[in-house]
Amino acid sequence: SDRLATANQELKRLDNAKSEFISIASHQLRTPLTAIKGYTSLILEGSYGKIDNQIQDVINKVYLANNRLIELVENLLSISRLESGRMQYNYQLVQLADIVKDAMSMFAVVAKKQDINLEVLTPEMPLPLLSLDAGKIREVISNLIDNALKYTEKGSVTVKMEQVGDEKIRLSVKDTGIGIKKEDLEHIFLKFARSKETEKLYVGGTGLGLYVGRTFVEKHGGRLWAESEGHGHGSEFIFELPISRNGV
Ligand code: ADP
Repeated sequence: SDRLATANQELKRLDNAKSEFISIASHQLRTPLTAIKGYTSLILEGSYGKIDNQIQDVINKVYLANNRLIELVENLLSISRLESGRMQYNYQLVQLADIVKDAMSMFAVVAKKQDINLEVLTPEMPLPLLSLDAGKIREVISNLIDNALKYTEKGSVTVKMEQVGDEKIRLSVKDTGIGIKKEDLEHIFLKFARSKETEKLYVGGTGLGLYVGRTFVEKHGGRLWAESEGHGHGSEFIFELPISRNGV
């Protein structure tokens, strides 16, 4: 029993060291990636003069690949913060539609390039305000839209917001892509989990986004789940958040 206790302590020490390493590495990676994002977008906007179409195309690819890398680093940072219990939440009363609008701005170019119709459906009446950590919920929404675009070769991606009864707001991201097999619908929310079909279409994924997303949504008292009629039939990712009763 003594040896077990020592081994346990050693495992905990290694686990902390691993989390620390991921945290430091991610912070160090984020700075240069942000610089690449800034400069490439300046080039694309024409701030350094006119560039021909071929170069524009290449820089665009650099910009998009770099965005994916930034997202990966964000996910790694989130994982290490979650695991070490250092994740902090800053709740504020916000309009979900504003967060969606903000997240969407990143994807218009990618959707257009892939010839995918990306649209947002918002109810006519403004939704009630929610008490949220806007940064975290934006990350969840961005991950869902990014996935929908990654795993859809043609068709559309639809983001829909609606109020469900008096107590909840629902957001769904529906795509016409490769879909998800029944037995994978829960499995994909595990850390580092990816489905086999996915590996063929998009090799660069990590399987972290949904794990982080579900953790964030649950911290807000909500639920996140996936629905699909199976492989080849598109997917829908849905989350529901409670409407705060007392404005906090
Ligand atoms: P990643 O996309 O980096 O692999 P995620 O945690 O975001 O990591 O997703 C985990 C897995 O869930 C993906 O690898 C894929 O198999 C599946 N998945 C996620 N979104 C979709 C989608 N819109 N359509 C089909 N499969 C999806």
